[in-house]
Amino acid sequence: MRNVFIFNPGPAVLPEPVLESTSKAVLDFAGTGMSIMEVSHRSKQFDALLVETVNLVKKAMEIPDNYKVLFLQGGATMQFAMVPINLLAEGRVADYVDTGYFASRAIKEAKLIGKVNVAASTKDDNYTRIPRASELKLTKDAAYCHITSNNTIYGTQWQTFPETGDVPLVADMSSDILSRRIDVKKFGIIYAGAQKNMGPAGVTCVILREDLIGRAPENTPQMLNYKPHAENNSCYNTCPVTAIFVVHEVLKWLLDKGGVPEMEKVNEAKARLIYEILDASSFYRAPVEKDSRSRMNIPFKLPTEELDNEFVAQASKKGLVGLKGHRAVGGIRASIYNAMPMEGVERLAEFMREFEKSHS
Ligand SMILES: *Cc1c(COP(=O)(O)O)cnc(C)c1O
Repeated sequence: MRNVFIFNPGPAVLPEPVLESTSKAVLDFAGTGMSIMEVSHRSKQFDALLVETVNLVKKAMEIPDNYKVLFLQGGATMQFAMVPINLLAEGRVADYVDTGYFASRAIKEAKLIGKVNVAASTKDDNYTRIPRASELKLTKDAAYCHITSNNTIYGTQWQTFPETGDVPLVADMSSDILSRRIDVKKFGIIYAGAQKNMGPAGVTCVILREDLIGRAPENTPQMLNYKPHAENNSCYNTCPVTAIFVVHEVLKWLLDKGGVPEMEKVNEAKARLIYEILDASSFYRAPVEKDSRSRMNIPFKLPTEELDNEFVAQASKKGLVGLKGHRAVGGIRASIYNAMPMEGVERLAEFMREFEKSHS
């Protein structure tokens, strides 16, 4: 048992059983006598694991048969470019909703490739909320509509996804994939860097509706084209073997625990514990509008920056680490992904109450 609770935004906490099984596989993977870091990505043992990992993602998220699950590299940030390269043909427009730092980065990349319509932005509200459906200025025949389902830095989360009709909805779910039930068939593409809720850094999961594969222009480099990755089941080139192994272990752990519905239930309870303290307090301030609150990342502020810093330092001494807010927002941010146990959040809640009592 370790003696810290890790509230890092990403790379983030992993379940302890996953660390244990991974440490074994570092020495011997599947009885091969080779480390998971030494085994060929084309060996039959790893191939079996890769197939199983895809199936576990499909099972956990109830993904329909007409979707491919890929494991790529380059992070979610590479998907900011790959999505428009593959889907934003000349003469078309893509809708983007600007809900913060990563959404803005996605927009910036897309503009390098083609025409972008920013369908809504909450920048003027310092990204403290998700736009209302009535605010979205969607393009009727857009190539796709891109959203960021959970805004890791600002602590906002889409509660109801926009209705885009026949326009494929594309979602960056890096920081809330597998944290709540979602209806995958409402999406054309879902992508997520694994390092928040799914595994370690170094692999990105892309869930792709099959009819969206093969649309990239002829002159697209192979690595930026979904098609060769899909045709070769993520092994067009050397896939991130070790990172995929860890994702496999995380999925086994998650399904063992009761799957996404159980994660959702626990995540709601964990978040409630912190929001209840914030709402009852005049010491702590939570900037996000209530109906936009994230269950994964909870930002808040103390009365002064000095108190913010003292909070982070004292929490860290008590084994509650990684609570410093992002530099764009300041203050505190508690990232409470799937692998953060209820006990860690209870310890944070207790610390918040004590700190408030002794400093207000
Ligand atoms: C962390 C994060 C990213 C960036 O992911 P990389 O894997 O570092 O490229 C993108 N979008 C969201 C929502 C994130 O939380």
